[in-house]
This record gives sequence, structure tokens and C-alpha cells, in this order.
Amino acid sequence: MALKRILVTGGAGFIGSWFVRYLLKHYPTYQVTNLDLLTYAGNLENLADVAEHPNYRFVQGDICDTTLVTQLMQETDFCVNIAAQTHVDRSISGPGLFVSTNIVGTHTLLEAAYRANIQGFLQVSTDEVYGSLGPTGAFSETSPLEPSSPYSASKASADLLVLSYYKTYGFPVYITRCSNNYGPYQYPEKLIPLFILNAAQDKPVPVYGDGLNVRDWIYVEDHNAALDAVMHKGTPGEVYNVGASSERNNLEITRTLLARLNKPESLIQFVTDRPGHDRRYAIDSTKIQRELGWTAKKPFDEGLADTVAWYLNNPAWVQGIRDKDADSILAV
Ligand code: NAD
Repeated sequence: MALKRILVTGGAGFIGSWFVRYLLKHYPTYQVTNLDLLTYAGNLENLADVAEHPNYRFVQGDICDTTLVTQLMQETDFCVNIAAQTHVDRSISGPGLFVSTNIVGTHTLLEAAYRANIQGFLQVSTDEVYGSLGPTGAFSETSPLEPSSPYSASKASADLLVLSYYKTYGFPVYITRCSNNYGPYQYPEKLIPLFILNAAQDKPVPVYGDGLNVRDWIYVEDHNAALDAVMHKGTPGEVYNVGASSERNNLEITRTLLARLNKPESLIQFVTDRPGHDRRYAIDSTKIQRELGWTAKKPFDEGLADTVAWYLNNPAWVQGIRDKDADSILAV
């Protein structure tokens, strides 16, 4: 049966807003409902350009709200669960919200989706569920789940619940585990936007530990294309790793950003490392490339240049966030 009604959760956040826009652009017959609670990370300004699109509907609400979610699933063919609490540092200072949003919220959606017998459920997960790598190798879909933080543990738990609905009920679920995303509209508590905005104002950029933690960066549009591939061509019950093979350590990223902004390296401020800080992530995305024909397209240097330009050229968006959440971000 052809898909028509898509429920995207967390569509007012960073990746979700890109995905809502992506669906409206690439699938003109789809009706997209965005269910988002508008937490500190949710921002309708991220979707200002499509707010009046005839195939788009925004519903403010909680993925943990069984009544609301049950009702929305009656009007849904396919659900893409992007909503989550996402910041590792916040999960260390307050894990409970991560358990309720990421585990209970995912289960609330999953159960309602299964009861409504919708055509598919895509859980947007993360490479962080695999834990930390040594200096070599990369995570495959069969790597053990060894999460380190309450954030990654909550995502791993959700993944297991999602897979159980396939094994137990034959419900068509899919999971993607993507590496670190970057790009416009990312909330500036995360490394790349935080460092761009701090450095642009000649404020210090706080690098954890020795700065040698490695992440495998992917431009957000490439992640969206992977979600599209899994949603339309994936095999039910399967996990797909998503990455762009762009490993960089945090210090390299910081130096590149400072150079691009013409700022001195004296802005680098080494701060006490995050507890349980994973040393290295690297993703082997051979499976999605081979089976679904997806590949990352955006070269890292080009994506980073676009991202820096976007943050510098969108002061109203940045100011909107500063006005709302001045205490907890953009501070060292
Ligand atoms: P984000 O923090 O920018 O956005 C999260 C969105 O979820 C916000 O709009 C927020 O309002 C919404 N939300 C939170 N709790 C909710 C609730 N209870 N009900 C409804 N909506 C709620 O996050 P992001 O960086 O865009 O990440 C989105 C997803 O992608 C997450 O599931 C994350 O685990 C996954 N992911 C992120 C990355 C990354 O690098 N950012 C990498 C891999 C996977």
C-alpha cells in the first residue's frame, strides 16, 4: 500500500526539521504531521519556510501522551521517531528525563503504532549505543551495545524495545544508527554551533579533556537521505548504520573552525573531561550502501563551510535562542 500520511516526531528539532522539509520537497503527495513538545531544543523557526505548506501540520504534544499518540496513529501510515532528549551533558546531570522521553516515549509510540497496524516505524538512533572504540576499527550493525552515558543507554534501550516488536509481533520496524550530525539549525549546545558562536564573539571555546576524542561527522542532509532510503527500501527488523567516514578529533574541528573564522587558537580553553566520555566513534556503513544504494554526498570541508556561513548569516535565529535559553548555552 502506498504511503501517504507520515508522522514525524521531534520535527521542530535539528534533524527533524530537516527531515520534515526533505519529505515535503521530495514527496509532494505526502501529508506530514510533526508531533513535537517544543522543549528547549524544539524551535518552530526551524520550519518557518514550510509552516504554511498545505501538506504540513504541526501538533504540539508529548510522545509520552498515550491518548494523543493513539489518536495520531489512527491517521498515520508510517512513523519516523526523531524526538528525543539528545544532549549527553544534560543526561549526566538529569538522567530521568532521558529515561522517560527516550525509552517510555518511544515505547508509547511503538505500542500505539502497532495497535493501529500502521505500515512501518523507523526509530532514529545513534552510533553512541555501541560505546567507545579503540584507535582502529569501526562499528558494524552487529557490534555489541555498550552505551556509556544515560543518553546512549536510553537510546540503546529504546532500540531493543523497537526490535522486540519485530521479533515478537512481526511489526515492521527499522532502526538507523547515525554518527554525529552537523549543519544549520543545530541547537548551539552542541560542539560545532557552540564553538562557531562563541568564537565569533571572541569568547573561549571549551574543549573537553585533551581534545583528542574522535567523532565521525556527517552533514544532516546526508542523514536525511539515509532515513528516506530506509523508510522506503529498508528490510523490516533490520538496523542500518549511517556515517560519512569523516573522522576528526575535537581539536582538529576546533582549529579548523577558528581558522575559518580568522580567530586565534588562544580562544581554546581545555576544560575537565566529561565523565564516561567515549574516546572514539567510527561507523561502517557498508550495509546501507550495498543494500539500499545510499552514500553520503557532502564533503566535510564543504559542509563545515556552509554551516559556519549559516550561523554567521542568521543572527535573528541565534538571538531567538539566546533570548529563550540564555542561561544554559553559549556560556563557558
Ligand atoms: P534535538 O535535540 O535538536 O531535537 C529533539 C526534538 O525532540 C526537539 O524538537 C524537542 O522539542 C523534541 N522532543 C523532545 N522531547 C519530546 C517529547 N517528549 N515529545 C515530543 N517531542 C519531544 O535533537 P537532534 O540532534 O535533532 O536529534 C534527533 C534524533 O536523532 C535523536 O533521536 C537523536 O538520538 C538522533 N541522533 C542525533 C545525532 C546528532 O548528531 N544530533 C546523531 C545520531 C542520532
